[in-house]
Order: sequence, then C-alpha cells, then structure tokens
Amino acid sequence: MAAAKLEAGDQVWCAEKETGGFRRGEVLGASARHARVTFDDSPGEAPVELPHSALLAANPRDHETSEDLGDLSVLNEATMLHAISSRFLSAPHEQIYTRAGLLVVSVNPYRQLPHMFDESTMREYARATRDLAPGDPTGLPPHLFEVAGVAFAALLRDSSAAHAIIVSGESGAGKTEAVKRLLAFLSRAPQLLDAGAAGNAAAARGGASPLASTALGAAAQHGTALELCAQLLEAGPLLEAFGNAKTRRNDNSSRFGKLVQLQFDRAGRVAGGSLSHYLLEQARVVGHAPAERSFHVFYQLCAAAEAGAEGALDGAPDDGDAQMIGALGLRSARAYAMLTPGAQLAAAELRDGDGRPLRDGAECAATLARLERLFPSRGARTALLQLLAAVLELGQLRFMPAADDDGRAAIAPSAECERALGAAALLLRVDAAALRTALLERQVSAAGETCRVRKSVADATDSRDALAKALYCRLFDHIVRCLNAALCAPAELGGGGQIALLDIFGFEVFEVNSLEQFLINYANERLQAHFYTTAIARVCREYLAEGLELGGTEHTLDNSAVLALLDSRPAGIVQLLNEDCLFPSNTAHSFVHKLVAAHGAHSAFSLPKVRSSAPAFTVRHYALPVTYDASLFLSKNKHALFLELTQLMAASDQPLVAALFGEGGAPGGLEQELVRQASQLSSATLGAGVGGVGSPAGARGAQLGRAARRAAAARARGVDAPPTSARRSARAGGGATHFVGVAASFCEALGSLLDLLEGRASSFVRCIKPNHARRPRELDARLVSRQLACAGLVDAVRVSRGGFPSRVPLAAFAERFGLLAPGAASRATPSPRQACAALCATVIAQPGGYRLGTSRVFLASGVLADLERARANR
Ligand code: ATP
Ligand code: MG
Repeated sequence: MAAAKLEAGDQVWCAEKETGGFRRGEVLGASARHARVTFDDSPGEAPVELPHSALLAANPRDHETSEDLGDLSVLNEATMLHAISSRFLSAPHEQIYTRAGLLVVSVNPYRQLPHMFDESTMREYARATRDLAPGDPTGLPPHLFEVAGVAFAALLRDSSAAHAIIVSGESGAGKTEAVKRLLAFLSRAPQLLDAGAAGNAAAARGGASPLASTALGAAAQHGTALELCAQLLEAGPLLEAFGNAKTRRNDNSSRFGKLVQLQFDRAGRVAGGSLSHYLLEQARVVGHAPAERSFHVFYQLCAAAEAGAEGALDGAPDDGDAQMIGALGLRSARAYAMLTPGAQLAAAELRDGDGRPLRDGAECAATLARLERLFPSRGARTALLQLLAAVLELGQLRFMPAADDDGRAAIAPSAECERALGAAALLLRVDAAALRTALLERQVSAAGETCRVRKSVADATDSRDALAKALYCRLFDHIVRCLNAALCAPAELGGGGQIALLDIFGFEVFEVNSLEQFLINYANERLQAHFYTTAIARVCREYLAEGLELGGTEHTLDNSAVLALLDSRPAGIVQLLNEDCLFPSNTAHSFVHKLVAAHGAHSAFSLPKVRSSAPAFTVRHYALPVTYDASLFLSKNKHALFLELTQLMAASDQPLVAALFGEGGAPGGLEQELVRQASQLSSATLGAGVGGVGSPAGARGAQLGRAARRAAAARARGVDAPPTSARRSARAGGGATHFVGVAASFCEALGSLLDLLEGRASSFVRCIKPNHARRPRELDARLVSRQLACAGLVDAVRVSRGGFPSRVPLAAFAERFGLLAPGAASRATPSPRQACAALCATVIAQPGGYRLGTSRVFLASGVLADLERARANR
C-alpha cells in the first residue's frame, strides 16, 4: 500500500530489494507521481527520485514503536516491521512480545531469557490479570502469560467459560515452546495467585464443589490435580519423542499439529486434559531429506541398543528396560535405511528447546520412563517397542524383478533382506512366509472370481512403505488415545471451564508446494475465518460498550469465497480430489483440468502464470497466492494400504498389532483392553491391602486403575476422547462403502476442531522466526516481513479494530491535538467528550473519519496520521 498524497517533510519508508527491509527517509518535494527522498542512513547523499508507489508512510519519530501495533498512527508492512524489530533488538533485554489487536506477536529469541519466564513474572501476570474486566489493559508489557492469565481469570469468574489460545507460525518460530510456557502457567495458576485469592473467587460465585468442602476431599482433589498436571506436562515430551524430528529449520520440529485441552475444577485447578493431533507427517517414517532425521524415538532406541551392547546403558529406569531393548535385536542407527542420512548427524549437534545438546541415549531413558508411567505393564511396552523395531526392519527390505517372472517383484536375494524379513515377522508376530506373500502379491476380484497377482517392484516397494507408515501412525494414535484415557477428568472433578491450546503449523509457501502445503494452508484459511469471526465479535462488543452502532465498514475482510473454493460441497477442491481418487485411470493432469472446468472463473483460482509441464494450479489465499504442484496429489491422498497387509496384521498374534489393524482401526478395542487390565490390576491391588499401594506393582495398578476409572467415568458422561486420525481414517477407509482420502479426512478433523473453537473466546499468538541461522539478537527483515504477510498481520490489526483502526482516549486526544484548533479547545467545555466533539468537527475533514465513543475517539484509517502530520507542521 503506497503512501497517500505526499508532500515535503513527510516521513516515509522505501522498500529495499537487497535486504527485503525498508529504508527510512524524508520527502524533500513531491510531484503528482514522484517524490524526492533523502535517506536517514545516508544524509550526505543526493536525494533520490522515486515513484509514490515505492513509498510507504512512516510514523512520527516520537511514536514509532508501541507495545500495541494498533496504537501506531500509520499501519503498514513497514511500520509494523519497524516496531516489532526495534522492540526485538532493544537492549539490554529483547522485548519479544508485541500486541497486535487481538493477536500477540512473539519473536523467537533463540536464547534463554529466564527473567521472562520465572516464578515472579508468572505471579505478576497472574495477579495483574485476575481482577481485570474483559478488554481492560493489564498495565504490564505484552506476554504469553498475559494471554494465559486473561483466559484463566475469565474461567475463575465464570465456571462455564471456554477459551482457546491458538498458536501458529512457521517451523522454528517457537510455537511448541510457547505452548509449554502456557501450560506451565495454567497448570500452576491457582498457586501463583495466593491460595486464598483463587479460593475466594470460587467461593464468590458459590462454586466450591461438595467434595472440596471437606478437608479430606480438598486434599484428595489437590493431590489428583497435581498428579494430573505432572502427567499433562509429561505428555508433551512423550509425544515429541514420537512426533518430532530434526529438520533443516528446527532440531526439534513437531511433525504434527496438536490441540491440548485443559479441564479445570471449580477452584481453578487442572482436573483433566485431552489431546488431539493433526496430520502427522507419515512420509518421514520411510524417508527424509539430507541434513534431516526421522522421528527422534528411532535414534533414541538405536543409541540405547548400541550402548547396551557395550554395557554402557545408563540412566534407564530399570534393568528390565535394558533387557527389553537388548531383545529387540537393534543395531546402530547407521545400519537402517530408514534412519539414514539422518543417522550420520552427530546427535550432539542437535539442541533441545532449552538449548541443551540432545543426546539420544539419555533421551531414550527419559522416553522409556515416560512410557513406563503411561504403560505400567511391561508387556504393553515390549509390544510397542517391538512394533518400532519392526518398522525399521521393514525398511531394510529391497525388491527386484524376479528372474522367472516378467518384471514382477521378488525380495532381493541378500542375507540382510532375508534376515530383515524374518526379524520383522517375528517382531510383528506374523508368519514370515505370509508377510512375504502379502508384500509381493495381491488379490484381484473379477467376474466373481478371486485370483492372486504378483506386484511390480514399484508396487511392492509402495506396500512396504505403506505398511511401515500405517504401523507407525497407528501406534502414534494409540499413544494419544492412551494419554487421553489417563488424562481424562474424573467425573467428580471438572465443572470449572476449559482452555484449549492449539500448536499448529502456520501458512507455508515453498518453491514446490504439494498436498501437505495445500492442507496446511487450508487449515490456516479456516483458522483465519475463525479469527475474523472472533475479531468482529470483539469489535461489536467494544462498539456496544462505547455506545456506538456498527457502521458496516467493520466487515472489511472475509475469506469465505476462498474457503468455498477449497472445501464446499460438491465441487470444492478437496471434494474433487476425493472423487478423482476413486478412479485409477485419473491422473494429476485430468485432476487439474477438472479444477479448471469447475473453478476457472473463481476469483481465487488460476493456473500459474509461468507455465510448466507439471500439473499445477494457484490459489489466492488470504495471505499470499500459492502455486501447488498437483503431481502427487492423488497418490498422497489415497495413502493406500493393500488389503492383504491389513488382514495379515489384523491376524497377528501380537494383540497390539492385531488391535491396531482390527475392526474399525481398533484403538478403541485396545483402550477397552487397557481398561479391562486396569480394573483387574486395581482390584488385585485393593485385595493386597495397604501394603500393596507402596509397592511398584501397587503404584502401577493404582495408576492404571485411575486411568481406567477416568475413561469409564468419561464414557458414562458421554464424553469421548476427541477423534484421532486413525479412527477417522478407519471410519473413512476400513471397509466403508465410500472412500475418504487424506484431504477429506483432514477436512473432517478440521471441522471438529472448528466446531470446538467456535463460540469460544479465542486468543491468537503468532510466532515469528527472526533468522534462519538461529542466532540471538539478529533479525532478517526479509524473513520477518514474509511471515508478517503470511500472518495477514496488517489486515489482522485492521479487522481487530473494525473500520476505525486507531482509538485514542478522549483526554489524551484533546491534549495531543488541542493545539490544532485552539478555538475549539479553549472554549470552556463541560466534558472531555464535548471538547473532542468540537475538536474533531473542526480538524477532521474526511467524511465518516471519526466517531465519538463514551471513552475514546475512534479514527478511520489514515486520519490519525493526518492529524500527526498537521501537529508536526505547526
Ligand atoms: P515446528 O513447527 O518445527 O515444530 P516450532 O514453532 O514449534 O517449530 P519450537 O520447537 O517451539 O518451534 O522452537 C524452536 C527452537 O527455538 C526451540 O528448540 C528453542 O531452541 C528456540 N526457542 C523457541 N522459543 C523460545 C523461547 N521462548 N526462549 C528460548 N528459546 C526458544
Ligand atoms: Mg513445534
């Protein structure tokens, strides 16, 4: 957006191609189209003649940064970038948070800032937010704890409150770390407020539960809440072991989206939680780019196996686990095709979230300890580890054309392949010959007859990969389900509101964008729609409180047209993709033709300007236009697993494997098994009397028993854990009569997520990655600018502020701009509102340029900048 009319003396920003940033300058003189500008950073140089379109208006020098971007007089890409970067680069301490209307922008400091997250800071924010009226400022600098504190305070005021904090941003921007800090705050919030204060708030609304009214009951609840918090905080690192990997952008990159829901009791203590996950990156199981790794847990196990073989396994929770790992027959990560090239990376080069070196062996001990708390039965843990080892063994299988059969596949005749096949079959507890057959052959039915057909080398390789991916993803689903069973709020607790935390990939644009980027950007498009709804609702509330009526200009942004293009029925892109996968003869080219036929005239759809032979299409998203390469859309969307492999796994002698592939994807069956085992164990423990409670078996039994009881209680209340992707895809593919591909199933999962978010008070945290080198105190203007654009930040602030982006308290307005109309200001006026009314009528010429609220003056876009300019010229 270029600066409007320019005149001598105007402050401007000029885009700088080399850095992607902006140079500040001053206009010396201007014609209708051009302006002569001198730059601040080269005062001696001759002025440069530039077209108006190359210049953006700047803020007055004394008002260039602000804790809230919405307070800036001039709002554009350059002024926002400048405000955020000057805060971030400020000394001695970087200010990593900035408010932006409804959002908080968070810049990754890439260094520990303990003073920002310590106990006293937490307490300060907890107290500052406790008694705030909705929308009132805390008086403290913007912070994640402010966002969490405001949500928590709302919950203390109203036990039926439900809140959501949506954290997004690109890889490495700090989403997961932010969610950890939010969790740390929320799980301790009642202790941060002194006990009396939280209790008083609960008592004030008559909310103490009957159980809490006895000392014993309160103590029991307190104990359960603490234990639940510990479990909840443990769940994150456990999921990270299975769902995070080293990528080029982040050593601990989450390869899935995550929603954590916290259930509170009436005294504000955490009473339970649940987790949902979105789009685990399946492809990483079978391969990864150079300089990246597969999921952490594989390297951890291999490191532990290597250390164990050398007798150096230390820190494992008990000898049994060391034996368990020894029995898997694992070797060094370098030995496994699926773990190279990542295995070449020295693990010590990797850093965890606290900047400490990641040591796979030590991490393995921590992962095993967490698994032990979730799965106290050694049998359950062994099955889980065997499944992981089986995935690695499957990856060792190679196929080649059989000598006797025209191009059909056989397993390569090497000792390693034969060993791996035997090992995989043993670990999965299926017959090795049957596994070989299921990998190499498939059943075909035609004219009522079934016959077996040998697969091609490519098909056999695909089957192997599909099986490895399915095993891993279903295991991940299973872990999430079991965590949910363990975290589920007991029926007697709860009742005190909920806060959901969403850690989800931000908008992505790469050189080549495939189905993954399409789905991620689609998710962001839907979240953006939620943002607009929330922002507009807030504007409405604010107007109401100020005694104003909506003028109709508030709805300046609306992405419903793009959403309709993406997912409307029957012809949205997701639906057309789903349909196209039903017919094997369809190709990526025919899919793109179909899109053109259906959406050629849609304003947000086009074919790429630069044509290439690859089938591609462009979607004009709310943030940026993105060109998608559709070459792999169909195959990625099918994510097929041959029927014979599913049947073989379902018939495994290993109950875990059989359950994961059984009827309906069966994690539910498995959960029932967990519940059954748990009730047996807990009754055995009870039978053992008090002495049993202290024993490890007793403790495990009690823990499992609690999980079982919570799950049973939840079911009794009709509350089910959120659907996991396994259940969804099972529902979608497992014997269903209609096909639901990856995209359609993700669309459904997002629908449930949006249903959950809808109607919740929501806060938004946009994380920003300051530089690629992960260096503290460095900010790459181009990189940050692109992220601000992807976050739609300029528009986000505008829409948060309705048609009137600037709002100035009445007294402040009269004081700052009174000198523009001394007559109006000097008249004896009975109230600041009347003073401002007279002032505005005199100095604001633009029709509809302002409105007077009961406490503030609301100014249309650009009006404050004009007033500032007039003030500066006096
Ligand atoms: P991805 O999408 O890849 O999962 P992410 O946005 O979740 O990325 P994080 O894993 O949270 O990114 O952060 C990346 C790294 O940045 C962390 O491992 C940590 O080193 C650093 N980091 C992030 N936030 C902070 C913070 N507040 N203080 C210090 N370091 C941080
Ligand atoms: Mg992450």
